[in-house]
Amino acid sequence: MTNVDHWVNGAAFTGESSRTSPVYNPALGTVSRDVRLATTGDVDTAVQAAKVAFPDWSGASWSRRQGVLFTFRELLNARKEEVAAILTSEHGKVTSDALGEVARGLEVVEFACAMPHLAKGEYSENVSTGVDVYSTRQALGVVGIISPFNFPAMVPLWFFPIAIAAGNTVVLKPSEKDPSAAIWMAELFKEAGLPDGVFNVVHGDKEAVDALLQHPDVASISFVGSTPIAKYIYETASAAGKRVQALGGAKNHMLVLPDADLELVADSAINAGFGSAGERCMAISVVVAVEPVADDLIEKIASRMANLTVGDGTRGCDMGPLITREHRDRVAGYIDVATADGATVVVDGRGIAVNGEADGFWLGPTLLDKVATDSKVYTDEIFGPVLSIVRVASFDEGLALINGSPYGNGTAIFTNDGGAARRFQREVQVGMIGINVPIPVPVGYYSFGGWKDSLFGDAKAYGPDAIHFFTRQKAITSRWLDPSHGGINLGFPQHD
Ligand code: NAD
Repeated sequence: MTNVDHWVNGAAFTGESSRTSPVYNPALGTVSRDVRLATTGDVDTAVQAAKVAFPDWSGASWSRRQGVLFTFRELLNARKEEVAAILTSEHGKVTSDALGEVARGLEVVEFACAMPHLAKGEYSENVSTGVDVYSTRQALGVVGIISPFNFPAMVPLWFFPIAIAAGNTVVLKPSEKDPSAAIWMAELFKEAGLPDGVFNVVHGDKEAVDALLQHPDVASISFVGSTPIAKYIYETASAAGKRVQALGGAKNHMLVLPDADLELVADSAINAGFGSAGERCMAISVVVAVEPVADDLIEKIASRMANLTVGDGTRGCDMGPLITREHRDRVAGYIDVATADGATVVVDGRGIAVNGEADGFWLGPTLLDKVATDSKVYTDEIFGPVLSIVRVASFDEGLALINGSPYGNGTAIFTNDGGAARRFQREVQVGMIGINVPIPVPVGYYSFGGWKDSLFGDAKAYGPDAIHFFTRQKAITSRWLDPSHGGINLGFPQHD
């Protein structure tokens, strides 16, 4: 069995650690490879490579950097099927979904190609007689990125193209559960002409993460993962003096008003609830049905669920397996909790017929009705194909429920009432909102991120926030001397 190596200074790097972690093919339930787990010393080797590469890369012209980005974009687009196959084999998501993930990552690469325009400064002539003020934005240095298992290509692509286009050098620590896509992208970037050391990948667990958080030569940390870890990352890296953005977990609600088009709602609930086996931070996990729509809506959702196919993502199924056996068992455990807490199991995914190997990490789409809002099924982020229905009496009750959640990542309202939608948009305490759109992931030129426990720090991912996050501004006040200048004045500078 081969190991997944790190990628440092433009080449595979084995490092000094003898520790590894198994990488599964979730559709087979077998270990396909072992991934190396970096030591603190391995992380330091990667950071030093990035530090050495920084002066040349940050000093390169905009057009040189832009040229490499453009070539990377072209190669990624031309060879997206290759990385999609890696995603399916290590994450389990079906091929069409894996290609969708790459497409959303490509959007960010395209955005990053415009960096010479996006990072432009400002200029004010003659702020005082003969004095001009202007600003410029410069790269931070070595930046660290730590990503989750559920989007092994897209989430790293939210950050590293923008960071690199702006002149930074990068150390990425992808999820150890599906690490190969990151290495594939690093190799591709090298093929596009990226100088060695600009983009480095170290695999690992807490030891590698902590080494990045504490490293004195790492200027910033961009993290995406579960809320407890996001909070830890934010607090630890901030205390170490770094710029931090830490995106956390989610519990996304879909509010359905009685005037909504229930066929559209049922399709949307299926797509947003069970796509990628519910392992999306923007998955809908709770449908909040404003009565009297619930019975009708449940019947429409359940009848669609009967036609969903579950299996090996390469075989044209709707939904693949979960990431690990432990996660599958944890998610399935919530169906027992639901029963104990008085919910109705409308569709039970535990007995699903599967198009694939018996040992895969399977759990079929599951629908729960009358879920109590004090049940763990409602309060926990389940991160699997389990959709809960909560019945409420009014728009106000539904809105209050959503605003009572500690999470604030995404939400959606389904209605034909523009006034209700507008009120929802204004009053809901959530960072990304869909109006008759179930998974409102903003396009690459808007920023992605939630509120409350779904984001720690003040910068969202990609879009305009990323330009600020990955650069530092300088303001320059300049005067070119003329013979009339002179005189001493100890007062605070004023303009005349
Ligand atoms: P995770 O928090 O377990 O892991 C994320 C990263 O942190 C991984 O690289 C992992 O190696 C590292 N890590 C894990 N435990 C650690 C520890 N104790 N100390 C330091 N580092 C540690 O998350 P996951 O299971 O890989 O991904 C799923 C989670 O990510 C869900 O909660 C999901 O909502 C969230 N997510 C959020 C967004 C968003 O944009 N808000 C996007 C995708 C995923």
